[in-house]
Amino acid sequence: RVLVFGSINMDLVTKVPHLPIPGETLLGHSFVTVPGGKGANQAVAVARLGVPTAIVGRVGKDQFGQELLRNLQSDRVQTDGVYIDPSNTSGVAVIAVDDNAENHIIVIPGANGNVGEEDIKRLTQQLSAAVLLLQLEVPLFAVQKAAQAAQQTGVKVILDPAPAPTELPSELYPVVDIITPNAVEAGQLVNFRVDSPESAEKAALVLQQRGVKTAIIKLGAKGVCCATPDETFFVPAFSVKAVDTVAAGDAFNGGLAAALSQGYSLREAVVWGAATGALATTKSGAQSSLPTRETVEAFLQE
Ligand code: ADP
Repeated sequence: RVLVFGSINMDLVTKVPHLPIPGETLLGHSFVTVPGGKGANQAVAVARLGVPTAIVGRVGKDQFGQELLRNLQSDRVQTDGVYIDPSNTSGVAVIAVDDNAENHIIVIPGANGNVGEEDIKRLTQQLSAAVLLLQLEVPLFAVQKAAQAAQQTGVKVILDPAPAPTELPSELYPVVDIITPNAVEAGQLVNFRVDSPESAEKAALVLQQRGVKTAIIKLGAKGVCCATPDETFFVPAFSVKAVDTVAAGDAFNGGLAAALSQGYSLREAVVWGAATGALATTKSGAQSSLPTRETVEAFLQE
């Protein structure tokens, strides 16, 4: 079983001819609402791969909250651990995308911002999982407590340090088994540019010196650098026709966690992550692009 502790959002996506300037009222092309949030995306990614999945987090006591819960349940993500918070709105991302694919994004954390002690209690009641997936869209102190609680019970902790933080508390690294930054996030954490296998390997070493056991650096189409306590290896990216890389990172983490929870080796799990990530880039959208187990297995057979 895989457990996710993290954010649940509704994305409000507008398509516009150009991004509005201050004071401008603009006639847009279209509007859709789509479920998102890195926590929810990763939970759906794992569940689509056929692994029992539960999420702990918060939604608001509003219509989006109900829709978000229903959406998770429709992908068989267990939501007993989601608190319906009457004191806040559901998290939303208000997104504008223009004809050149430039965007503006306003994130209102809402209920995600209230995640804390109470949620840790619900999490510890569910810690019978093999793997815990964490990201940084809920308060950092809660992420750290969740990691500590999981590590004490022998649950493998995977932290996706996204959205990119400038710094993480030094006490967080030692309670993380696997950290999975992309190139930008890795660069922010180590304070040098990460854009090649060589610089990724250096960055992985720095992260290990801070206390994580394994560092996996996601380099998009350039593949993945994986440094464990015993060895460093690269897994090349699968060659696909990428149309939209939204949620590729979440898909990677879902594939990685699903495989590890089923007893695959780390190297095999990284290949599963890379395949799941690559497939997610071949379709548009976040959760709508996440592949099923059958699709990933067929892809890996090719
Ligand atoms: P993020 O989505 O967090 O920015 P990446 O861009 O590194 O992270 O994508 C995550 C993973 O998805 C990559 O490590 C890779 O496995 C896969 N991926 C992303 N873009 C591509 C691509 N163009 N071709 C093949 N695989 C890709």
